[in-house]
Amino acid sequence: MNLLRLYKRRRIFKETPEPRGKIKLKKGKKLIFVVHDHYARRHHHDLRLEHGGVLKSWAIPKLIPANKSEQLKKRLAVQTEDHPYEYKSFKGTIPEGHYGAGKVKIWDRGKYTPLEFQNNKIIFIAKGKKLNGDYCLIKFKGQDKNWLFFRKK
Ligand code: MN
Repeated sequence: MNLLRLYKRRRIFKETPEPRGKIKLKKGKKLIFVVHDHYARRHHHDLRLEHGGVLKSWAIPKLIPANKSEQLKKRLAVQTEDHPYEYKSFKGTIPEGHYGAGKVKIWDRGKYTPLEFQNNKIIFIAKGKKLNGDYCLIKFKGQDKNWLFFRKK
């Protein structure tokens, strides 16, 4: 679902420190990515790519390894609701009883260049400290939310 509807529906902004946010279309082509460390019920990473004024988001249950050769292995990436652009700098603790309760930290962030950005295939060059190089997100055929994420050689 697009345009932050689901993001807003899932949160009570008086009670969570997360940004309410809005769609933010910028001029120019400098796009950002962020990977959050999310210590929810289960520790996972959240990969977020700026696109169309929001952050397209995927949860990566098995975590992205910091080691570049380990990043060549494919990992499941489960698409989650679009997040507002302001979420790029969010860190903090989502309180108990709330959606995504737990501590959120920034694992890595930087600029990225999309080489291909389609509904079922995204190829991009990331310029971060840990995510650095060419990466692929490929959607499983006939599935709603499941993608594969890996670094290209
Ligand atoms: Mn998460």
